[in-house]
Amino acid sequence: MFKNLKIILLISAFIGASFFCGVNNLFAAANVYTIIIHPAHGGTDTGIKVTDKKNEKTITLAIVHELQKELSRESNIKVILTRDSDTDMSAEKINKIVRENKPDFFISIHINKGFGKHASGFELYYPGFGKDAVGGKKEIKDLSNEKINQINKSVRMAQLIQRNLDLIFTRKGRGLREADNPQMEGLSVPTLIVEIGFASNSDDRKKVLSEKTQKEIALALAKSIKSFYR
Ligand SMILES: [Zn+2]
Repeated sequence: MFKNLKIILLISAFIGASFFCGVNNLFAAANVYTIIIHPAHGGTDTGIKVTDKKNEKTITLAIVHELQKELSRESNIKVILTRDSDTDMSAEKINKIVRENKPDFFISIHINKGFGKHASGFELYYPGFGKDAVGGKKEIKDLSNEKINQINKSVRMAQLIQRNLDLIFTRKGRGLREADNPQMEGLSVPTLIVEIGFASNSDDRKKVLSEKTQKEIALALAKSIKSFYR
């Protein structure tokens, strides 16, 4: 009798444990966040010319590859790249990838240029209130909950990235800016455009060309994304 009871108890404990693990797995599977990362430009669209030999499209892809490597260790983050090589990417093509994969976030990486040779650092663009506001007035009350949620998440991610990129481009953050991204037309996915370093500034140019700094930038971005989903 006692022996049988022991067996029953053991079996129950086993079923209980399997159930608990199963439930845990269920939760783990439910909490995987998909992030689409776009290394800006590609193919015939070279982006800005950084040196005679290197264009924006090559540098953004190098940074994004490092970022992908960094995030691949995270079990709760799934990364999809819009392009993995030097291919042409139209706004429609990017829009289609986003529409089909329904990501939790879309991040696009660029290299900046302009505003004179003294302009340096990084800029972060989150989706604007844009056309969704009634009569063009930028009032929160006119926005849908989905839009407010999209903007809130985008700004929160921007703040995390700002904090971490500040360590590479000290006091060179040029702030958070509002801008609609034509690639995301009709989609309400949280979005961020990260413009890293100015090719028109000699210090920044050296930074974005250096493999070491490219890795540091990728690490800063990965750290931000990881803390966003922690
Ligand atoms: Zn660009």
